[in-house]
Amino acid sequence: MKRAIFPGSFDPITLGHYDIIERGVTLFDEIIVAIGVNASKKYMFSLEERMQFIREAFKDEPKIKVVSYEGLTVDFCKEINVEFILRGLRNPADFEFEKAIAHTNRDLAPIETVFLLTAAKTSYIASSIVRDVIKNNGDYTKLVPNSVRVVK
Ligand code: ADP
Repeated sequence: MKRAIFPGSFDPITLGHYDIIERGVTLFDEIIVAIGVNASKKYMFSLEERMQFIREAFKDEPKIKVVSYEGLTVDFCKEINVEFILRGLRNPADFEFEKAIAHTNRDLAPIETVFLLTAAKTSYIASSIVRDVIKNNGDYTKLVPNSVRVVK
């Protein structure tokens, strides 16, 4: 069985992430969306909210699981016996950043990183932009799955 983890902050999940996960499901038997917990980082949404947004978005897709983890992604992969890391690429900046991480991960463990190119229609979407829109009371609903709703 081919399983991949899709690690990230998902603060919150966007239609860009959603697209990568939906397409990843055609390549793998199981996708584990793994929210990395970094104690020194400030998030807009709590871990529970971020997990719930993703669970709700994929509630009809049994091949997608949602978990959280601490520490190195490769250590978590070994712990749950996963051989692939799935990541999305939007632009050259993503590529440079992801390349360094993927090479480092390969030095640390025999785990392959598989990249999917963003869909053209979601290529501009980033969680940081969604957070800015939310903070400034803009209409963020076009950028995220329906499960992401802000209660004020
Ligand atoms: P991180 O904290 O690792 O940057 P993110 O939640 O921002 O976590 O992103 C997780 C993954 O999703 C990364 O591989 C990132 O490149 C990818 N991603 C984010 N937005 C998009 C998008 N619009 N299209 C494709 N991939 C995306």
